[in-house]
Amino acid sequence: MYWCEQAWLPEGVTDGVLVEIEGGRIARISQGPPGSAERLAGLTVPGLANAHSHAFHRALRGSTQEGQGDFWTWRERMYAVAGKLDPGSYLRLARAVYAEMALAGVTCVGEFHYLHHGEDGRPYDDPNAMGHALIQAARDAGLRIALLDTCYLSGGIGAPLTDTQRRFTDGDAEGWETRAEELVAAYDGQPDVEIGAAIHSVRAVPPEQMPVVAEFSHRNAAPLHVHVSEQQAENTACIEMYAATPVQVLHERGVLGPRSTAVHATHLTDVDIELLGQSGSYVCMCPTTERDLADGVGPARAAADRGASITLGSDSHAVIDLFEEARAVELDERLATHTRGHWRADELLTAATVTGHTSLGFPGAGLLVPGAWADLVSVRLDSVRTAGARGLEAVVYAATAADVHAVVSGGRRVVTEGRHVLGDVGPMLIEAIAALR
Ligand SMILES: [Zn+2]
Repeated sequence: MYWCEQAWLPEGVTDGVLVEIEGGRIARISQGPPGSAERLAGLTVPGLANAHSHAFHRALRGSTQEGQGDFWTWRERMYAVAGKLDPGSYLRLARAVYAEMALAGVTCVGEFHYLHHGEDGRPYDDPNAMGHALIQAARDAGLRIALLDTCYLSGGIGAPLTDTQRRFTDGDAEGWETRAEELVAAYDGQPDVEIGAAIHSVRAVPPEQMPVVAEFSHRNAAPLHVHVSEQQAENTACIEMYAATPVQVLHERGVLGPRSTAVHATHLTDVDIELLGQSGSYVCMCPTTERDLADGVGPARAAADRGASITLGSDSHAVIDLFEEARAVELDERLATHTRGHWRADELLTAATVTGHTSLGFPGAGLLVPGAWADLVSVRLDSVRTAGARGLEAVVYAATAADVHAVVSGGRRVVTEGRHVLGDVGPMLIEAIAALR
């Protein structure tokens, strides 16, 4: 049993909250004195969901910032790292990256996974060896995982695959489906793992192949994620080839809907926003990546106003800090509109918690209520960053990942006094990244 000095409950920030846990779930919540319960100082919020991750991109942090260039030059550097990974080195890297996420209060990750095969695209003995490595990494680090197994078939609209991209492809959507169904069978009945689907983008999957992936999502009641309109160049090429925007292509092929997430959704038309909203799709904003890659600012508020649900992801891991992602949604909107006050703090934290978990196929997470996954994230209110700040604004507008001092994930204590159960995560990252250079 834990006693939270303050906790963010559905009714608001509440003092002196007792949380009883049974079998990884919250059994009871009440107010009262701590008694013999373990004390959690500061403000405790539900576990955070990182709805969009490519774990291996973490190896690029701080090494791609010099000089000029854009998304496309960054992608060449990213492919160089991808070319070096194998199941063993990816397990070590992803375990360290997910431990970094746990330290930041993340209890569930949506891993958008497309690095499937070995050199020259030859499948490993187990064609899902890389996916198994990612799932093992998440379990080691104390996270639940939605492995969003990604269909990736072409090097661009009408373009062949390049060298590294051959590691991403299963030949066609049926080939992808066969491999992904093996993963579904392997993790059937395991509540900490959700096998979802992803269409990499309209660049990487021809429209006629998309319905196979959408069908997989319907058949398995699994999440379906897709990169959408992160770059203007994608829109231009898509309109030229299909006389439709990427969102319209996805709509025509049955990809949008209440299990689907459009990642980035940066450069949208009014019709695109309407289609995402009417279909009940999620829109995953990744503001720290979008700023790092000079993508632009997406219309999060407009999409939410028309019915889309907003989630958050750290994507390329230039930064792993969901509080930073959350406030960036509001702060970027201020820069774009020259006005303040588009999102309330509780709306932003909802995007980072329950909405994110639900979009990843874990609807019973991200809320401090009986029956939910027992995920508790305690944020210091006495650090130099948070001192003097109060309520949810302290978490959304003042705290950083470094202020997370305790994390319980599915009832398991993962972080205590800012330390991860696996030990020092910095050296783990250094070692895993050095092996790729
Ligand atoms: Zn991405």
